[in-house]
Amino acid sequence: MIKDYWYLAVLFFLAVFLYSWFRKLLSRKVEEARQKLLNTKNEHLFLEGRNADLEKENMILRNSLEKNTALYDLTKEVCKPLNEEEVFSIFKEQIKRYVNLKDLKLIKGEADVSQFQDYTGLSLYIGKSLFGYLLASGVKDEDKDTFHILAHQFILGIKRAVLYEKVQELAIRDSLTHILSRRYFLERFVEEINRSRKFDYSLAFLMIDIDYFKDLNDRYGHLVGDVILKEVSRIIKDNIRQIDILGRYGGEEFCLALPETEKEEAKFAAERIREAIEDALIRAYDEDLRITLSVGIAVFPGDAQDTDALIDRADQALYKAKQSGRNKVCIHGG
Ligand code: GH3
Ligand code: MG
Ligand code: MG
Repeated sequence: MIKDYWYLAVLFFLAVFLYSWFRKLLSRKVEEARQKLLNTKNEHLFLEGRNADLEKENMILRNSLEKNTALYDLTKEVCKPLNEEEVFSIFKEQIKRYVNLKDLKLIKGEADVSQFQDYTGLSLYIGKSLFGYLLASGVKDEDKDTFHILAHQFILGIKRAVLYEKVQELAIRDSLTHILSRRYFLERFVEEINRSRKFDYSLAFLMIDIDYFKDLNDRYGHLVGDVILKEVSRIIKDNIRQIDILGRYGGEEFCLALPETEKEEAKFAAERIREAIEDALIRAYDEDLRITLSVGIAVFPGDAQDTDALIDRADQALYKAKQSGRNKVCIHGG
């Protein structure tokens, strides 16, 4: 009987031992699993944080890429046109894609911009000289930097247009008198003859030559001669209409085309120029000089039908004016 209990006791102790060993093992495994879960959670949190950082970095890079692309696109567009108004109108269109604004103004030259209190303003300089002001209203604080950066690209376009306009001017104008050079006068003259032919208008051509200019040069020197040429150009310009075309034919000879002008009107205009020169006291360095000029006139289509023939007829009339004593206006065939 006791023998039976002994077995039972052994079995009981074995069972207790196994139970406690199994519990320990289980709780160790549970602890390990818990630790692993904690580690995974921490790792997850860390990765989430890292992901947020990367997303932020990505956003910054994307923004700066967008800014650079905007800068590139806008610069490309504003550098296409070759006149200032077009540069401004393209810039006005383009900037709306990147900056919210209500109004954009370009004010050229020196100006009082204090009345534009609500505007974000920028002075635009080309070299050291003030070109004008770029003023925008409704620009939010966070967009102001972008606005200023893009505005600097605008001035690049403006600089390019101004330079182009200057080069064009230099190419078509005589450097001393700033009136059209002979070549460009002739281009305009041909256009004007074609227009007159098409619309059945008459067109007067005047060849103007300063009297005894060589003597003036010899007596006072070439510098004084140059001042006389500039003054004569200015006086002629002051005595013609906006639509008339004045050029320097060569030396001390000027050519003048008067669109839609008949013989009598041309004679009247030529007399006005001749008298204005005769009456002018020209100050050149220390000299006060009086000069005269002679004018020969030929009129399209009566006297000739093309540029060369018209110039030739006007030259013949000029020769007549010189022969008959200078300070005269002569009309071809008149
Ligand atoms: P005329 O009354 O017959 O026209 O006599 P003129 O002395 O005016 O005519 P001529 O054609 O003999 O002389 C023109 C002079 O113009 C000769 C040249 O020295 C001078 N000349 C030509 N181009 C220039 C210039 O750019 N500057 C100066 N100072 N003189 C010039
Ligand atoms: Mg001459
Ligand atoms: Mg002369």
